Amino acid sequence: MHCGIEVGPLPRGSYRNHCPSCLCSRHVDVLPGDRAARCRGLMRARGVDSHPAKGHMLVHRCVECGFVRRNRVAPDDELESLLQVMKYG
Ligand SMILES: [Zn+2]
Ligand SMILES: [Zn+2]
Repeated sequence: MHCGIEVGPLPRGSYRNHCPSCLCSRHVDVLPGDRAARCRGLMRARGVDSHPAKGHMLVHRCVECGFVRRNRVAPDDELESLLQVMKYG
């Protein structure tokens, strides 16, 4: 599983839900932060959307069940990885 994401909260209150390096996440939430999903599948970044109010959003898709979710790009996400996702998904 890539880096085996065990990601802690960001210092400034906003919680992070994906790996800054490979941008992968885990299917643990039904609603953001509720940890209610039983899937636990790996969610890979499939693209980057821009949202008028929220800025750039990462599009994550669960490799197990196909669940799609958008997450805000975190300040310490690796630019290189983001560009990779934008280009190739
Ligand atoms: Zn990772
Ligand atoms: Zn899933």
